[in-house]
Amino acid sequence: MPVSGLPPYDENNIFARILRGEIPCKKVYEDAFALAFLDIAPQAPTHVLVIPKGPYCSFADFSAFASDADIAGFMRAVGKIAKDLGLEAPGYRLLANMGEHSGQEVPHFHVHLFAGRPLGRMIPG
Ligand code: AMP
Repeated sequence: MPVSGLPPYDENNIFARILRGEIPCKKVYEDAFALAFLDIAPQAPTHVLVIPKGPYCSFADFSAFASDADIAGFMRAVGKIAKDLGLEAPGYRLLANMGEHSGQEVPHFHVHLFAGRPLGRMIPG
């Protein structure tokens, strides 16, 4: 269910394969709405990826087409993960890339959760 002008969901993207258990991940949390695992190339001492269980290419798809329950469940999961990992003090950053200019590499909506050091400017460069 892609947003108009964007490619359809690729059932074989790497995060879809992780969701199906075809590729391992270092899982930190799972519930009915979300799976969270460590990023394979961490850019901060804590770098967790949180993905919804449904087939959404990006934030554009997820925000347009996911049910209210799925959006609420996903966002609550992100908050719970950050809290349970003890990141609320001294803080963390959420980031979601969407589309070409953002540098989105994996076409399954995901939120990056960064923490563990001062994170600097919001948009480097
Ligand atoms: P983005 O550029 O927002 O699409 O981010 C994709 C992220 O997925 C990058 O930070 C990658 O390091 C990460 N990544 C790619 N493959 C894997 C994998 N198999 N397990 C964990 N993280 C991955």
